[in-house]
Amino acid sequence: MGRRKKANKPPPKRKIIEKLDSVFNCPFCNHEKSCEVKMDRQRNTGYVTCRVCLEDFQTSIN
Ligand SMILES: [Zn+2]
Repeated sequence: MGRRKKANKPPPKRKIIEKLDSVFNCPFCNHEKSCEVKMDRQRNTGYVTCRVCLEDFQTSIN
């Protein structure tokens, strides 16, 4: 019988690149994933900027 090549390796698990709450829906213009967060760890504050409506606000992080 023929040899079987062991070619069917299971594909490696891809890391799901998911930024930790760094992009989310904008509460102002309701665009999805248009708000980006910059974390200021020294102040425990996240600065959120929407790239669609250009609103920005701060939120506290912990
Ligand atoms: Zn917006």
